[in-house]
Amino acid sequence: MYDVAIIGSGPAGVSAAINLKIHNKKIIWFGNADLSKKAEKAELIQNYPGLNEVTGKQFVWALKNHVDQMGLTVTEELVTGVYDMGEYFGLMAKDNTYEAKAVILCLGVEEIKTVKGEENFVGRGVSYCATCDGFLYKGKKIGVLCTDKRYEYEIEYLCSLADTAYVMPIYKGVNVTAPNAKIIMQMPKEVKGGLKLNALIFKDSQIEVDGLFVLKGAISPATLMRGLNVEEGHVVVDRSCKTNIKGVFAAGDCTGRPYQYAKAIGEGNVAAHAVIEYLAKK
Ligand SMILES: Cc1cc2nc3c(=O)[nH]c(=O)nc-3n(C[C@H](O)[C@H](O)[C@H](O)COP(=O)(O)OP(=O)(O)OC[C@H]3O[C@@H](n4cnc5c(N)ncnc54)[C@H](O)[C@@H]3O)c2cc1C
Repeated sequence: MYDVAIIGSGPAGVSAAINLKIHNKKIIWFGNADLSKKAEKAELIQNYPGLNEVTGKQFVWALKNHVDQMGLTVTEELVTGVYDMGEYFGLMAKDNTYEAKAVILCLGVEEIKTVKGEENFVGRGVSYCATCDGFLYKGKKIGVLCTDKRYEYEIEYLCSLADTAYVMPIYKGVNVTAPNAKIIMQMPKEVKGGLKLNALIFKDSQIEVDGLFVLKGAISPATLMRGLNVEEGHVVVDRSCKTNIKGVFAAGDCTGRPYQYAKAIGEGNVAAHAVIEYLAKK
């Protein structure tokens, strides 16, 4: 069992991971090896004290260097569910499960909004993991909503199982070769169903499906963890970055504006120290 699971590898996650490592906590850290595509995007950073006029790429390079020097490694898996087991938390990522005594959410803000109705059908037709759930849709009709070209291999995998895949790419330069993939350059405005999801609703039409795969680099906080207090898409925290669930903390953009490096790094630090105190009391 890990002491702490950190979900997210942007500046908030980096800050939490560094502080927990210094305090010798046993951590599992989920995210991307390149840390955060978003954090790389700034053309010129002028508001980070002490680092005047560096680019986002230079900033992330410095973070990566620090992380490497401390021997920290990122587990490159998207966490799709966090479950409160009483004394610890269970985490689902890819087709693996992990256990940790505390969790820090450093999720950033979502790449795309959830589709209306999506959260109601998680586990009842909506899936975030092709590897885990693809086999359930062998010979069936599915929708695949995808935010990034780097997940196209998962689309091809789903097409190899499904009868028809209605692929909705939210990026340019789509290149899916499977003959049973039907590309739709539109996002559904809603998903509907009864006990299970059965339809994608578009502006002027609807398509009947047995399931919807949502392939994206982040999961909305409310979908990730049932019972988490989320307001207008942001995780509600107090000054020590505690959420309403004992043992769950949050930091960075996912807790609200301003969306800035200094806030993300500061909150990552606060959350790490709050977790250390929580573990000590435990
Ligand atoms: C174009 C642009 C310019 C900017 N310029 C500035 C600037 O000049 N100054 C400034 O202060 N800020 C700037 N920002 C904002 C800054 O980039 C963000 O505030 C900062 O990156 C937030 O860090 P974070 O760690 O909260 O989230 P992020 O950097 O978004 O990192 C979140 C990470 O968590 C991962 N993740 C999310 N969910 C999961 C999951 N379920 N499982 C596994 N991994 C997950 C994501 O893939 C991502 O890698 C800019 C942003 C943009 C887009």
